[in-house]
Amino acid sequence: MRPYNFSAGPAVMPDDVLHQAAAEMLDWHGSGMGVMEMSHRGKEFGQIYAEAEADLRELLAVPANFKLLFMQGGGLAENAIVPLNLSRGQTADFVVTGSWSQKSAQEAAKYCTSHVAANTKANGYTTLANPASWQLSTQPAYVHICSNETINGVEYHELPDLKALGCDAPLVIDFSSHVASRPVDWTRVGLAFGGAQKNLGPAGLTLVAVREDLLDRALPICPSALNYRTVADNQSMYNTPATYSIYIAGLVFKWLKAQGGIAAMEARNMAKAKLLYETLDGSSLYINRVAQDCRSRMNVPFYLRDESLNEAFLAGARERHLLQLKGHKSVGGMRASIYNAMPLEGVQALVNYLREFESQHA
Ligand SMILES: *Cc1c(COP(=O)(O)O)cnc(C)c1O
Repeated sequence: MRPYNFSAGPAVMPDDVLHQAAAEMLDWHGSGMGVMEMSHRGKEFGQIYAEAEADLRELLAVPANFKLLFMQGGGLAENAIVPLNLSRGQTADFVVTGSWSQKSAQEAAKYCTSHVAANTKANGYTTLANPASWQLSTQPAYVHICSNETINGVEYHELPDLKALGCDAPLVIDFSSHVASRPVDWTRVGLAFGGAQKNLGPAGLTLVAVREDLLDRALPICPSALNYRTVADNQSMYNTPATYSIYIAGLVFKWLKAQGGIAAMEARNMAKAKLLYETLDGSSLYINRVAQDCRSRMNVPFYLRDESLNEAFLAGARERHLLQLKGHKSVGGMRASIYNAMPLEGVQALVNYLREFESQHA
């Protein structure tokens, strides 16, 4: 049996997907070629791409007026690509609720005026700011949030409704670490982006879903290969796309469909998160500091109240085949990332170990 891997990303993949990729490594569907060796312009890859796109559109219920783009550079590159495409060099607003949205606000300042509409740093990024309290600028080019803060473990369980706040700007969401774990309310979104390596596939591939009316706002300095209009008009093949990564993500999409789709994944993810948070909350050894109403279902940071036990905790975890539980270096402690591909049994094994370790150190 493989160990349970709680890495925040690159992260655990479904076993079935890895087995299928291994079986098809040297010869995809009798083509005589592995997917890595195929031209992106050939009919074989064309079929792989078309199926991946259609499956993802169906899974996430992406409306017809959104383009799905398979780009490269990860979530961090989008922190520049979004303002290059959407800001018009004017003001964009950022709601800073953790490390990733903080980075987004900082990077955008190279291309536009970056206005921080709210910042929860003062409480250690353990809450979300109520949208009614956001200090939005008068006519921002867009409003950016990180809908799941991977490091701080804070998640929006409802996307903000900008129109209800009297703001016409498109909402941009960085959904890197919870894409495909729950449905997306597209009526509230103008653009969503995410790196693939948390919940979709290999690192490097970046998914962008962008409303069509936002395609033609790029600054003249925007590189052609990063211009959403250019990428959209060329079916993500203006330059050579990350072909193998798209193929693997496509296998993940088929796996998600076989699991019952996003609604089924959401139900499982809720059950997994409930089990883990209840165990942490019921313990006197561990603590999670995030407010109950915005705890992430995907990334669960926690601390040992006695931090001198950290190394012993991690060593014991490794012995029990529970891997990569060390927290991000910027916040310390522990973190369990429990993405779609982490089965309930994996969370159960972690919970058993949490209880065992606590009983030994009571
Ligand atoms: C991982 C992550 C990123 C960064 O992704 P890279 O692929 O390293 O650029 C950005 N935003 C969020 C929310 C993430 O979880």
